[in-house]
Amino acid sequence: MKNKNNYDYLLSDLTKLNGVGKKTMEILKKKKVNNIFDLLWKLPKSYTDRTLVSKVCDLQIGMNQTIRIVPLKYQFPRVRNLPNKVNCQDQSGKIDCIFFNSHEGYIRKILPLNEEVTINGKIGNYKGRYQITNPTYISQDSSLIENIDNKYSLTEGITEKTYNKIINQILKNLPTLTEWHDDDTLQSFGKESWNSAIMKLHDPANIENYKANFYKRLAYDEILASFLVNSEIRKKIKKIKKVSKKFTEKAYNQIINQLSFSLTNDQKASLEDINNDLNSKSKMFRLLQGDVGSGKTIVSLITALNVINSGFQVSLMAPTEILARQHFTLAKKLFPKKISIELLSSKSPNIEKKRIVKELQNNKINMVFGTHAIFQKKITFANLGYIIIDEQHKFGVRQRKLLSDKGGDNCDVLLMSATPIPRTLTMSVYGDMDVSIIKEKPKNRKEVKTYSKLESKIDDVINFVKKEIKDGNQIFWVCPLIEESKKLDHQSSVTKYKFLNKLFPNNVALLHGKIENEEKEQILNKFLNKEYSILVSTTIIEVGIDFPNANVIIIENANKFGLSQLHQLRGRVGRGTKQASCILMFKSNLTVNAKKRINILKSSNDGFEISEEDMKLRGFGDILGFKQSGVKNFRLADPIQNEDLFLMAEKQIKQIELENMNIDKYKALLKLYDQADIINDMV
Ligand code: ADP
Ligand code: MG
Repeated sequence: MKNKNNYDYLLSDLTKLNGVGKKTMEILKKKKVNNIFDLLWKLPKSYTDRTLVSKVCDLQIGMNQTIRIVPLKYQFPRVRNLPNKVNCQDQSGKIDCIFFNSHEGYIRKILPLNEEVTINGKIGNYKGRYQITNPTYISQDSSLIENIDNKYSLTEGITEKTYNKIINQILKNLPTLTEWHDDDTLQSFGKESWNSAIMKLHDPANIENYKANFYKRLAYDEILASFLVNSEIRKKIKKIKKVSKKFTEKAYNQIINQLSFSLTNDQKASLEDINNDLNSKSKMFRLLQGDVGSGKTIVSLITALNVINSGFQVSLMAPTEILARQHFTLAKKLFPKKISIELLSSKSPNIEKKRIVKELQNNKINMVFGTHAIFQKKITFANLGYIIIDEQHKFGVRQRKLLSDKGGDNCDVLLMSATPIPRTLTMSVYGDMDVSIIKEKPKNRKEVKTYSKLESKIDDVINFVKKEIKDGNQIFWVCPLIEESKKLDHQSSVTKYKFLNKLFPNNVALLHGKIENEEKEQILNKFLNKEYSILVSTTIIEVGIDFPNANVIIIENANKFGLSQLHQLRGRVGRGTKQASCILMFKSNLTVNAKKRINILKSSNDGFEISEEDMKLRGFGDILGFKQSGVKNFRLADPIQNEDLFLMAEKQIKQIELENMNIDKYKALLKLYDQADIINDMV
């Protein structure tokens, strides 16, 4: 019986299906299949055709074939380990069925003598006779065998037969869903309904038919659902009423007058976006996105000072303590002395920590800097009005929503990220927020010169390093792995450290993932204080810290990194006024594709452009940050192949927002496709 208009069936537990027990359910759960709906997206990769019936004389050894034969005689040897055998034939020849580990009774039942059966299995040959060992399918009802079965990438523990049974059962019971798209949208996909699209998706004739209407429709459903959820969250947050903050030219000037540079136009524009939000009566939830070194910190500090002057507390969180300290130090320098700011560090003595916590409660502290732990610890604020979160691209939509809720209604939220996102993905990654983008680099910046070098030319590199050290510059030397691993052929930072330390005694520091946090900070601080000229490290220097004196970055085994990651690393240098360089080292000559990628990096200094190109060359799953970003991978939609669908969905969402359209009709779509728990109370 069909379930009419009932999507609950699709969201129900797998055990609702016949033939799915606890064991199968556990296996599927490991593959992130939690309900019936999830199973729909495990697509057939190929299929087995059992419809062709062969004569025995035409059988091909090694092939999987279907035959109709008549069993003539049983041979059940009463000897251990010898298989049971049944001699069979058709008009054209003879074949034996061989059974290991099968009981006589069972064999008699499935292969009764002198009655035709249909059998499918792999054809073998033994001493000149055809044989078929443990046939996959046997039945007297040929219609049960002579089918086409899809082949899925199976999970261990589930046979193809079981899997097909499960899928066929679902397809048979597929509820008829009410169409959520309007006619115009549907027209773009040849009026393909959801139900018929799903049937086609599992039809073996349609394997990898990515360009077909049914496929596009389903991909579009997925994209629209993802955008729509984000848009709903955004709308919901915008509806939250708060006490507005005031801002004055004075606070702005107090900071600006101390800077040796003037703000870029993009910095000014972002500042205006944020100040307008702070000044409004609805809660801010904004992302400040800007390439590495684009100057986001100063923007955030100016806005923080406004909030403090309006009588609220501010909290700034960074991913590492050293970064939090760096921001704290800068604020200490720029803020008027009467403003009370503190760094909450895990290393401070307990008394000190207690004092800070207490004073935050008593409203004696205006602004606190620390890591994300500030939120995990149960710190309460007297009057928190603004949360700034630096380098947060690893947070997903869900975490951000929690964060926004936690601060309370009066608390505005600003997130800052240097991870550039290809345009098609902005709405699915950051669609829950308003976005300000800083594209323009500060004017005094010189482009970092990027070179590639073969590892065999390391002497040239060393000579270059010597010259730079002589000029008072500092160098990052990046190695991808901690310890020598022959298999991965990565350069070890430990060996490199030893090697460099011999050439530049007492002038090299080593930093890798196994060094404890506290020691890590000491090393970085010493490097910041120019106690060493070279810092050998794995990629941990990637995150946000500003080293104005570092001028050269050398990246070994550069082909192990993605373009965006190389761009982020390169952004660590060239903050000062001197010419900076980035040397990419390679073990062997580059392949054509690798050359293409490196040339993009050499010719562009724009993180957005680089991430687009990177995505085109490597697929979007691999771009920096994505795997951890909490962005769910699309099941069907592909941001490169389906760019048009992404743009179409973006347009539709804008229309929905503009007309303030009721989205009730998308209820089923949202429940099925997306994070229903987030929007539960919204639709
Ligand atoms: P990011 O956007 O990567 O967080 P930062 O805020 O750390 O960048 O800024 C990088 C460096 O650029 C800092 O040393 C900062 O003082 C400097 N800076 C910021 N804005 C400007 C500007 N408009 N002109 C020149 N230098 C700037
Ligand atoms: Mg930063």
